[in-house]
Amino acid sequence: MDAKPEEITLDPENWDELRSLGHRMLDDMLDYLANVRERPVWQSVPADVRVQFQAPLPKRPTAAAEVYDQFKTAILPYPTGNIHPRFWGWVMGTGTPLAMLADMLASGMNPHVAGLDQSAAYLEEQVIAWLVEMMGFPPGAGGLLVSGGTVANLLGLAVARNTKAGFDVRAEGVQGGSHPPMVLYCSTETHSWTQKAVELLGLGNQALRRVPVDSEFRMEVQALREAISRDRRDGLHPFCVIGTAGTVNTGATDDLTALADLCSAENLWFHVDGAFGAWAALSPSHRSQVEGMERADSLALDLHKWLYLPFEAGCALIRDREAHRATFAVQASYLSAVGRGIAPVPLTFSSLGLELSRGFKSLKVWMSLKAHGTETFADLIAQNIAQAAYLKERIEADPTLELLAPVPLNVVCFRAVAPDLDEPALNALNQEILLRIQESGIAIPSSTRIGGKFALRVAITNHRSRREDFDMLLTAVRQQGNEILRQS
Ligand SMILES: *Cc1c(COP(=O)(O)O)cnc(C)c1O
Repeated sequence: MDAKPEEITLDPENWDELRSLGHRMLDDMLDYLANVRERPVWQSVPADVRVQFQAPLPKRPTAAAEVYDQFKTAILPYPTGNIHPRFWGWVMGTGTPLAMLADMLASGMNPHVAGLDQSAAYLEEQVIAWLVEMMGFPPGAGGLLVSGGTVANLLGLAVARNTKAGFDVRAEGVQGGSHPPMVLYCSTETHSWTQKAVELLGLGNQALRRVPVDSEFRMEVQALREAISRDRRDGLHPFCVIGTAGTVNTGATDDLTALADLCSAENLWFHVDGAFGAWAALSPSHRSQVEGMERADSLALDLHKWLYLPFEAGCALIRDREAHRATFAVQASYLSAVGRGIAPVPLTFSSLGLELSRGFKSLKVWMSLKAHGTETFADLIAQNIAQAAYLKERIEADPTLELLAPVPLNVVCFRAVAPDLDEPALNALNQEILLRIQESGIAIPSSTRIGGKFALRVAITNHRSRREDFDMLLTAVRQQGNEILRQS
């Protein structure tokens, strides 16, 4: 008689033991979030901690509790810092305690969200319909949850390319055939996702025309118009304009109504990168700033920025569902629908993007929108915009500080100034101020260059920030500036 094989599993032998470890993790994480304000925003990962991440491959098991202890000592204390009330670098959201719990539930259920007859699929459709409504898109519009703005923008451009090519891009590929080269337009302030996208889509970086901006960092519509006619005259095929709601440098928003008018007159696809700025549409007092966005053919959003959700969650909204499907849907015998059972219809979501296996991103979105209500998010967005205005006023009232760009939204660019310092010296001074502030752990602004000037850049997509936090930042800028000038 054969011996019964000893079959193994990854489920715990002792559920009670894992349950108590799980409860400890949950308590620790809730404490960690509740006390975030008491810790430094950021600290560098020390060398003796870093070497722990060069350990040999663990072939034999270690007790989960011991592995968790390593998490607590070597991983948890050295985060990006973006959940802290004084983190304003780049554009990063803070996450929320409730959405963290939703992610745990999603991971526990662990559904495969390519489609199928399951709650997660209907939930994603629900969430997309809500996002369509929140952004003022028409009710028939569709979309897809993706990892973030880069991918959401890429999907929008892919649909744009295939829809406006005038030939079968899926069969023939782009460029190199007998078709005139396709070209598209953005501004010099458009985010760098554009370069990756045009390269990946086979259009090539030189197909992307970077139109100059005005003094408020908005695309020059007249220059755009001229570029389009020039390209048409030269026998090229203009097919798309990319507008931005909230540029990453200064929070500027292009004249989206003018761009929408121009695109409809010129038969061009109108894509809007609204990664963070689109959320201004939630606030009745700021909606007008992004007007015209609702006329886009495609719109990219980041829920992990100004909707404060944990990474990752982005969304591509596409006005024309058929054009969207026509770009990505494929037939494969092992994926085909059989009318009834678990796979009654073709896989909805894998027909709308690149990914076949997809996680349960919609749960944290659904739970957050329901539990907090969209009005709360609108109030938070308005609060962040008011905080940016407050910071701007404080900067303008201080002769040792200089505002470097208008503040239409939630991004503030400024620098410290001192008499007798030339531009290179001011750049060096401000870079040193930035680094000292970051290294002190008091706040994390990031930097950019505005007209060649090194700028301290504060982007506020943080539901934990209070006005006193911005006062602390300015105090730190002044102190560090004085100290550096004293030492030099
Ligand atoms: C952040 C950002 C992106 C890229 O989004 P990811 O989620 O980081 O991929 C694109 N455009 C703008 C305006 C952004 O702020």
